[in-house]
Amino acid sequence: MMEAKLGVTTCDKCQEPMREGQPVLIITEGSISDSKKDLDYQGSCVRYACHLNCWDGVEEIEQATRYSKARS
Ligand SMILES: [Zn+2]
Repeated sequence: MMEAKLGVTTCDKCQEPMREGQPVLIITEGSISDSKKDLDYQGSCVRYACHLNCWDGVEEIEQATRYSKARS
């Protein structure tokens, strides 16, 4: 179980708001803080967030992350 506060409120794909109870897919950037037993993960930022229904696969993420790198 992971909980996170997201800085985004809309889907990166359809631009509609992501609401309570909706299944979503979130891609985060972060690092492994502990790898002794299970991996502990500390996220630093959200790279991509969309409704689970809007997800079309890895290609889309590659495009999205390339786009955000070009912007910054
Ligand atoms: Zn969507």
